[in-house]
Amino acid sequence: MSSLQPVRGTHDILPDDFRLQKSVADCAAEIAGRYGFKEITPPVFEFTEVFARTLGDTSDIVTKEMYTFEDRGGDSITLRPEFTAGIARAFMSNGLAQEIPCKFFCRGPVFRHERPQKGRLRQFHQVDVEIIGVPGPLADIEVIAVGAHFLETLGVLGDAVLQLNTLGDTESRLAYREKLIGYLEGHKGDLSEDSLARLQKNPLRIFDSKDHGDQAVMADAPLLGDHLNDHSNEFFTHVRDGLDALGIAYEINSRLVRGLDYYCHTAFEFVTDTLGAQGAVLAGGRYDGLMEQMGGRAMPGIGWAAGVERLSMMVGEAPAAPNLIVVIPLGDVAEREGLKVTQQLRHAGLVVEMGYSGNMKKRINRANKAGAGAVVIIGEDELTKGVATVRNMETGEQTEIALDALVDHLAAYR
Ligand code: ATP
Ligand code: MG
Repeated sequence: MSSLQPVRGTHDILPDDFRLQKSVADCAAEIAGRYGFKEITPPVFEFTEVFARTLGDTSDIVTKEMYTFEDRGGDSITLRPEFTAGIARAFMSNGLAQEIPCKFFCRGPVFRHERPQKGRLRQFHQVDVEIIGVPGPLADIEVIAVGAHFLETLGVLGDAVLQLNTLGDTESRLAYREKLIGYLEGHKGDLSEDSLARLQKNPLRIFDSKDHGDQAVMADAPLLGDHLNDHSNEFFTHVRDGLDALGIAYEINSRLVRGLDYYCHTAFEFVTDTLGAQGAVLAGGRYDGLMEQMGGRAMPGIGWAAGVERLSMMVGEAPAAPNLIVVIPLGDVAEREGLKVTQQLRHAGLVVEMGYSGNMKKRINRANKAGAGAVVIIGEDELTKGVATVRNMETGEQTEIALDALVDHLAAYR
């Protein structure tokens, strides 16, 4: 391994990709803002227990994927593998229970030590929304609506399917859990080691297994949807009615689970078949038991996270770079004037670069390659006349413009 290579599963994000990914995250921020979500950001790392306790000791993330290290003070620290736990911790640390409902939007890098492949990185980026403090289904509807609106604005909603399920309330889930464990006990021989380890602690999670043996067993497993009490059924009906009213299409997927005990009621995921194996682009659910599990008082919550890299692949094209103007001074005296003009145009809000060196032809070519819309040439002739030659790079047309009229003339390139 060469130390000049980035660590496996990490990437340098170069300008075109950066613009694309930023436009995806900005779109999420803008749409979430319209729904009243406020942007916050928890730290990139937390005490390990923030994630270990909330994600549970049988989740993939905790057992295999966390970047955990001891810092110089001897504390166990983990780079955030997701946002929800950090936001819940922040909600409690800052005493925000006084201010419910809280609606938060977050974006930034998250870290998981998994096997890198297309659409699966070790440092990737998420956008994330959470509503904390609303026990009723209106929050579930709103959270899904903001996700659909975001994907629609990106232009990828048509390539994704919303899968929806309910995990029911605690009573339904506990009763079902016993049934499921009973069924799985009878199929122990066909289950993977991972799933055997989860059998007692977190049997629902086995629905999420990518092992073929597990999948065959789960194909005939009893389903939670057939074991819901009245309250859970009403809650789910309410959510579905809301989505229907908004014209948000979905498919019921009774095998869709969030395999963590604190999840309940609504679970959903927007999936696509346009990205090969990595089909999940935006996933979320209700986590009413989370805060209690972290040692706080019970507080309902629901949210989703979406992968910025996967969404960027779906979008494909980066948005156009801003219009560029290149100033080319020829000669020492012109250089001084060129500096001033460049700065003046920048102050007027234009994106301007100086064509540094080389002969005229070279500099024009370079400006062309950089995508300049216009080039401002200042040579000795121009200086004596108090003008600059503005070349429209699209048409090749050249016009002499008085120096003090340049800002107005170039305003179209803003
Ligand atoms: P997967 O089933 O693909 O492993 P996940 O269930 O682990 O996904 P979540 O924890 O729900 O994913 O994270 C939310 C979103 O983050 C996913 O829908 C996906 O778009 C993105 N994501 C998850 N893991 C990665 C990764 N390693 N690289 C890039 N994006 C990822
Ligand atoms: Mg994963």
